[in-house]
This record gives sequence, structure tokens and C-alpha cells, in this order.
Amino acid sequence: MSIKITPSTHPVSAAERVEKLANPGFGKYYTDHMVVAQWTENDGWGQAELKAYAPISLDPAAMVFHYGQEIFEGLKAYRQPDGGIALFRPEANAARFARSARRLALPELPVESFLDSIYALVKQDASWVPDKVGESLYLRPFMFANEVGLGVRPANRALYMLIATPAGAYFNPANAVTVWISTEYVRAAQGGTGEAKCGGNYAASLVAQKAAAKQGCDQVVWIDAKERKWVEEMGGMNLFFVKGSGSNATVITPKLTGTLLPGITRDSILSVAADLGYTVEETMISIDDWRDGVASGEITEIFACGTAAVVSPVGTAKSSMGTWVTGDGTPGVITMQIRNTLLGIQHGTIADTHHWMKKVL
Ligand SMILES: *Cc1c(COP(=O)(O)O)cnc(C)c1O
Repeated sequence: MSIKITPSTHPVSAAERVEKLANPGFGKYYTDHMVVAQWTENDGWGQAELKAYAPISLDPAAMVFHYGQEIFEGLKAYRQPDGGIALFRPEANAARFARSARRLALPELPVESFLDSIYALVKQDASWVPDKVGESLYLRPFMFANEVGLGVRPANRALYMLIATPAGAYFNPANAVTVWISTEYVRAAQGGTGEAKCGGNYAASLVAQKAAAKQGCDQVVWIDAKERKWVEEMGGMNLFFVKGSGSNATVITPKLTGTLLPGITRDSILSVAADLGYTVEETMISIDDWRDGVASGEITEIFACGTAAVVSPVGTAKSSMGTWVTGDGTPGVITMQIRNTLLGIQHGTIADTHHWMKKVL
């Protein structure tokens, strides 16, 4: 896919950009450009275009509004010590985007085209990549059905888009996340869309998020749909449990059963934890294991992980079965070690032995 580049005629001024980057938040500001490519059943992928960031116009009968045929991705570009910019494992996001597309009956965007669009936008909007450790440029590729019609079937037109937003370092080490273990709602069942990164999964999760907030919790923890006992993930992040401490610690994450989203951060942490000398395990973890492990002191740390926040410590878990507190509300030693190692690799200050970083500039 070649990309036609039409630079914006009205980019944000340097002064305004610097001001926005001083306090980027997350999803608050968008860069000067975006990438758009149209697919049709008859002609396949058309010419991709990089152009000024702007609202788009859609027919009210565009299928995405009615049947939710939509997928997305999330990945980051990090400033490097030499002033350059590198992406973290972008081909893993490209491959997952293609798998999500298959599940949602959307066209597959070839991995090369996905990567071309990412590299083109990061190069064009390089001045939007923040400098500080923990900050990054978050890239949001997405695709949706834009065929006009109300018949229920896979759309014969789809639009791929890529936008970017600077992301601040919003990690607060004093604040462990409090979670609500949802026994009322489920996120995903075997055969469903749990493994796909689609907007519909999130739409269906919001009422549970609201229930969690009502309980004074920050996030929902999902358990499996069938037995209602196996821990799956937290909101839009995967979960890790640390058993024991020091060099004898074991770092454990729920096994991918087909209903969990296979996180790229999750996969990377399995490698990083092993590199740091810990025993790593992908296994089934029940709510009883959580409660008993916390009570006995065997579970010493819990954290969640994902591209947006990288690693977030989890403290208190509340559910209809009771409240269990891990640690003293501050991040555990191993949680912080894993977080700092991963961030160090991403920012180019720790050796990238797995060749995860892809240089853009
Ligand atoms: C995106 C996502 C994750 C984390 O995946 P990363 O590739 O690590 O960002 C975890 N769970 C859900 C439900 C997600 O959508």
C-alpha cells in the first residue's frame, strides 16, 4: 500500500504544541495528521492517504452505527536517548489487527500496509512524540464498516484509519488500583469475541464498569463465563500475580483460553520476568486462589498490564464474596522492577535483547 502524503496546511503552531506536550494527558490532543484507506469488496484496498487530522463524514446508515462491525489497536512510539523515535513491537499489533479483522468479518489489512501507515504518521508527526520517560505517542489504528445499508451481513466497504495522541506518564506509585470482581456480568465466552480487539467488547463492559464505580472501585475484574470462577483480566488490561518474594518469586498470569485478549504487554512481561530470573507460569487462577493466596500471604503482589498504562499495581479486590487486600497499597518490589525494565527497554536505556524496538527515526 503506497501512501499519498498531503501535509496539513494548518498544523498547530510550535508554541501551542509545546504547551500541549507539557501536559499531554491521554486522548486529550491529537496530532496534525491521520491516515485513511478505503476498502471495497470489488477493488480491495485503495490508495491510502496521510492528510490533515479532521472530522469525517459518514452516512447515517453506515453499517458500523447499527451492527458495530469495528476493530482497533493501540501501540506506542517512544523517544530514544539519541533523540530518535522507536516503536514497541508494532508487527505484533499488525498481526493482532489482522486476527481481529477475521473475527469481525472485516477485510485484513496486510501487515506491511499496517506498518507503512504507522511509520508514515510517526515520521510526519515526529515533533509530537514527548521526551520524558513514561511519556509516548499513542497510536490508534482502527477499522469499521462504512457500507450504507441496514441489511445484516458483513459490509462490502470498510474504512481503515490511524490517529495519534500524545500520552503522559500518569502512573501514580502511591495509588494501587482497587478492583471489583464482577460476578453479575461477563466479558467474553468461548466462541465469542474475547480474543478480538473490537469496540463491541468495550461497549458491553461499560455497565460493569459503572457497577464497579458504584462499589468505590476503579476497575472491573472479569471471571470466566462458564464456571464463573476463573480470573480472566481487568478492564482493558491483563493481570499478573506474584507468589513469594526475592529470587524465589513466581510470576503468574491467567492462561489464554480463547476468551482473554492476548496482550502484547502480557507476552513481553512473561519474557522480561523470566530474564529477571523469576519462574513464570501461565495457568488458570480461580477467585478462591486469589482470596486464599492473599489471606495466607502466598500472593505478595498483583498488577495489571497493557500498552496504555504499561503496569498498574492492584491493591484491594472487592466482590460479593468479600474484600481482599494485597500488600500495603503501594506497588510491590517485583511489580516496579518489571515496570522499570519494560519502560527502560521502550525508552532505549536497557538493552533490547528480544529486538522488540523498531526504529522510525
Ligand atoms: C488491548 C487490551 C489488553 C492489553 O493488550 P496490550 O497489547 O498489552 O495493549 C488487555 N485486555 C483487553 C481487553 C484489551 O483490549
